[in-house]
Amino acid sequence: MNVHMDTKNEKPLPPGMVLGPDGKPCRVCTSFRNWKPAIATREQARNQKAAAIASGVATSAASLSPAPSFSPALKRVGNCPPDSEELGRATWTFLHTTAAYYPERPTPTQRANMLSLIRAIPLLYPCSHCADDFGQDVKEHAPDVSGRAGLSRWLCERHNEVNKKLGKDTFDCARTDERWKDGPSD
Ligand code: FAD
Repeated sequence: MNVHMDTKNEKPLPPGMVLGPDGKPCRVCTSFRNWKPAIATREQARNQKAAAIASGVATSAASLSPAPSFSPALKRVGNCPPDSEELGRATWTFLHTTAAYYPERPTPTQRANMLSLIRAIPLLYPCSHCADDFGQDVKEHAPDVSGRAGLSRWLCERHNEVNKKLGKDTFDCARTDERWKDGPSD
């Protein structure tokens, strides 16, 4: 995985931008925060041009000043494809909730299905560097599919590994039911 350098076009990439296995910038492997400056500058240039032409100040792009620098006020709008953070939150929500409702005493078929689900993530998860790291972690820590409590804890620990890697606080795994099933007690 190449980060920070677009080897195909031999151009430096914005910090944090990640390339996919195809060598192209990978939206779903990158936080939207790292796409925003380029998008913002393009959008601002378009808006500025439209406003100037509408007010009669300019009649063509050539008569306009360069695009202003990035404004942090710009936000994602509409149904954008997910970035790595949105995809991650949605996936963790699915996985933790599925673990929270997994049976206390799963049948052999239910265990096999859960194992298949977990083992599919490193193969199919579209953020490829996330998938590779998760696959390595799953190799080192065999999934506990014996029942609801064991699976919830195992998954919490895997999520905490990612949290640590990203410099985030770890989650108290004694509170997974409160977070993903029962809600706060009061
Ligand atoms: P998230 O980490 O998405 O968590 C969502 C919610 O889950 C939190 O608000 C909290 O209430 C709860 N929570 C947090 N930790 C735990 C826990 N341990 N147990 C139970 N509940 C918890 N991003 C990268 O940049 N690089 C990676 O390599 C990477 N790998 C990933 C691998 C997988 C399999 C997945 C699903 C996601 C990965 N991500 C990765 C995305 C990353 O984990 C986050 O989802 C993303 O950064 C958004 O983070 P967040 O702070 O909004 O909350």
